Amino acid sequence: MHINSGPSFGQPRIIPLAAFGNKVAVLRLDEVHPVIAGNKWYKLKGYISAAQAQGKKALLTFGGAYSNHIIATAAACAHLGLKSYGVIRGERAPQRSPTLQDAEGYGMELCFVSREAYRSKQLPPELEAIASECIIVPEGGYGKEGMEGFWALRNELALGDYTHILCAVGTGTTVAAFAHGAPAHQQVIGISALKNNLSLEDAVEHLLQQGQKAYVHIEHNFHFGGYAKYNKELLQFMNTWYRLTGIPSDFVYTAKLFYAFTQLWEGGFFGPQSNVLLVHSGGLQGNRSLPPGSLIF
Ligand SMILES: *Cc1c(COP(=O)(O)O)cnc(C)c1O
Repeated sequence: MHINSGPSFGQPRIIPLAAFGNKVAVLRLDEVHPVIAGNKWYKLKGYISAAQAQGKKALLTFGGAYSNHIIATAAACAHLGLKSYGVIRGERAPQRSPTLQDAEGYGMELCFVSREAYRSKQLPPELEAIASECIIVPEGGYGKEGMEGFWALRNELALGDYTHILCAVGTGTTVAAFAHGAPAHQQVIGISALKNNLSLEDAVEHLLQQGQKAYVHIEHNFHFGGYAKYNKELLQFMNTWYRLTGIPSDFVYTAKLFYAFTQLWEGGFFGPQSNVLLVHSGGLQGNRSLPPGSLIF
């Protein structure tokens, strides 16, 4: 099956927010597919194109038990008739996370490795034999191929009129994709979901050609304690944001993006001529790990 086929991969909507005088809009990448949602799909497109170009029949990637990237890879491969392998950080738990249950349901073969082994980025011995048949996708879909998977979308959506584009940052691939080739008047701002990940600037710069870095700014102060950390204030914010805009968010990435945006907005960061685009990068499946009843959506 070709990667653009399938009924659910429509052009994402851009929704203006009346609550912010329609000077702010949200790019709903979360809506492109119910499972292969958000920025993960676009990053995977780049790797899938590479697999198709090289005649490889499988993707092999890495992630944690709640990884949006793992489930997106599993579902995308199932959709396209490719095999998928997931190297999962941490020992095999008796009770699988919902994310891993779903990934297995999509036919992903899971291989659990200790945190130390995971950190070393060595392939487990049982996967070494098949690695040559696979495209290896770095954790989170980081990399040039991941960035290139956004090109078609970037070209289809005319984004030149926006003065600011804000998106949540994990590996930096998505923010780099929006910054790459952005016009000089446009500021691209990434909101880091990680605490003190000060190598992010380098990771982004590495993906960009020289001279592009000037347009990217990464905010490091909206992580709420660190990756996948949250508190009552963040959950309350998610509900308030939903009531205000009708837009659901995930607690790991997009809630912190929208929160950071509202802080910047209230602080007068955006001038009167601003035209802001917030990239909803998806991730809603991750909310399944929150206590039931936390959210109104
Ligand atoms: C993975 C993820 C990100 C991070 O994207 P990067 O390209 O790795 O920076 C942002 N938002 C959501 C919802 C994600 O799942």
